[in-house]
Amino acid sequence: MTYRGLLCDLDGVVYRGATACDGAVEGLAAARAAGVPVLFLTNNAARLPGEVAEHLESLGVEAHADEVLNSSQVAASYLRQHHPVPEGQFALPVGGPGVAAALDEQGIPVVEPGDVLRRGGSAIVAAVVQGYGAAVGWAQLAEATYAVAAGARWVATNTDATLPTERGQAPGNGSLVAAVAHATGRQPDLVTGKPHAPAFEIALQRLGLPAADVLMIGDRLDTDIEGAKRVGLGTALVLTGVHGRTDVDRAPEAQQPDLIADTIPGLAEHWNDGA
Ligand SMILES: [Mg+2]
Repeated sequence: MTYRGLLCDLDGVVYRGATACDGAVEGLAAARAAGVPVLFLTNNAARLPGEVAEHLESLGVEAHADEVLNSSQVAASYLRQHHPVPEGQFALPVGGPGVAAALDEQGIPVVEPGDVLRRGGSAIVAAVVQGYGAAVGWAQLAEATYAVAAGARWVATNTDATLPTERGQAPGNGSLVAAVAHATGRQPDLVTGKPHAPAFEIALQRLGLPAADVLMIGDRLDTDIEGAKRVGLGTALVLTGVHGRTDVDRAPEAQQPDLIADTIPGLAEHWNDGA
């Protein structure tokens, strides 16, 4: 099988914190030199695509903002395509600046949490888009709760319970989503990040390639591999991140990758053929 495009996870595949993963710089440079398009797909909803691209460049990986797809952008694209916000209503972003920026980029009218009351109350909110943001506090969660309770469509960028930090596990977006769920008795109508299908659907649109022609490179079996496999992409596990060979041995069939390599260059024969 020769793949024509690559979907690449970031954390544990391209970098770990401030350093590049083994092989990532050379492996991605070789793919680019071979003319294989690469799209970086991340569940991080808070960072702007331009910031991610700058981070990648600082590690020596060539990257442009339009080659980064975060879960806020997936949420915004998916909303626009499948559940457009009706005239006179708005989407309410709850999260870091990446959430509102992604909605803006798709031309979706946005009402900031602090403006809802002044502009008519929760009835003007057609959709709540909730992604991680370090500054999210009670006031924003309260606006989300009012709108969700009033029937707004509720989209979460991901439901990861925890967020790894230098000091240990901190509450992730899933824990903030759980606060709204606990208060309303509802669950999100849609989750957009990996392993959920919208992430891959929007990524394939961006690449302009059918699923079978694209290889997902990831470090987690339960998100990158399982999600990509379910929608028909090729899958490769690299061993620079969370999961290793013993995890593969223990994993169910739905999480078995097509390919396993220590580092990205170990996969190059699967896209360089005929390039
Ligand atoms: Mg990862």
